[in-house]
Amino acid sequence: MEIEKLVRKNILALKPYSSARDEFKGDASVFLDANENPFPSAFNRYPDPHQLVLKKRISELKKISVQNIFIGNGSDEPIDLLIRAFCEPGQDEVIIPQPTYGMYQVSADINNIGVKSVPLTAHFDLDVDAITKAGSINTKILFLCSPNNPSGNVLATDKIEALLKSFKGIVVVDEAYIDFVTAPSFVQQLATYPNLVVLQTLSKAWGMAALRVGLCFASEFIISVLNKIKPPYNLSGIAQEKALELLLQEDRKNQNVNAILSERTRLIQQLSTLNAVIKVFPSDANFVLVKVKGAKRIYNALMNSGIIVRDRSNVLLCDDCLRITIGTAIENDTLIKALTTL
Ligand SMILES: *Cc1c(COP(=O)(O)O)cnc(C)c1O
Repeated sequence: MEIEKLVRKNILALKPYSSARDEFKGDASVFLDANENPFPSAFNRYPDPHQLVLKKRISELKKISVQNIFIGNGSDEPIDLLIRAFCEPGQDEVIIPQPTYGMYQVSADINNIGVKSVPLTAHFDLDVDAITKAGSINTKILFLCSPNNPSGNVLATDKIEALLKSFKGIVVVDEAYIDFVTAPSFVQQLATYPNLVVLQTLSKAWGMAALRVGLCFASEFIISVLNKIKPPYNLSGIAQEKALELLLQEDRKNQNVNAILSERTRLIQQLSTLNAVIKVFPSDANFVLVKVKGAKRIYNALMNSGIIVRDRSNVLLCDDCLRITIGTAIENDTLIKALTTL
């Protein structure tokens, strides 16, 4: 498959904006090129548009070269940029197995891209045949989310691999929750599959949701296309600095993940004993999907006690289901106590 042929023609031909910081590379002491304010405030200079220092740290952590990394303002940015790079508005379409993360559909809708929704199986795994049948000459991207949100399970590796081989377009594997599983990331498969794009984020395991740092891993060619169309300074200087600082604290991240995992085991066990709970689905993430007796009623009762969970009962295959994030031990105890009375 020639990935270049999948890219929209106007994007291939695009001459990107070249910022002042793009054009000058080297050492200098007087910067009069970017219309910045010369008086120091810690924030008066534009940040590195290519986030090189941050990418080097991510490259170390993920064992992938800097040329295969794109950093977005949250994962939502690469999702949108991928659609804009590969999908012609009013003509092309994407495939989204459902239920899953809502931003793929919203991004497609914003860009006037058709969506083919294909249900996951009863166990929230991929229906490879149905996905294959849903594809057409205009289908450019397949969005897979593993571990999947809101169901919490990893998708079968052999099914993802089968689709990477057979799908005639870009396969995005969103691994926002990868740090909560032992299953290997697809990042190490980039050399095998030129149509693979892996998304990760610093918002979950790394605890940086407020900084808005989304990671995208792909072939050098796909990364170069994303770099061409991104807003020049898409990651603020503060986000770059803080993310680097926190990415050096790997032990802290691991401690947090371990605490969340042991709380997950405890929460699942306790939820399973409650009257209001019908079923707790297995989870490979930092949340659990729980089928309850009357999702709306329980959602509202919890809200009245100041506890907010996510009502997913209107979502395909998720009748009467709430999605509950694993909190601290105290927060989880508060939740269990409130649910005991319902
Ligand atoms: C939370 C989440 C993200 C992360 O989004 P950010 O914009 O990076 O905060 C991405 N994908 C999925 C499936 C998620 O659940």
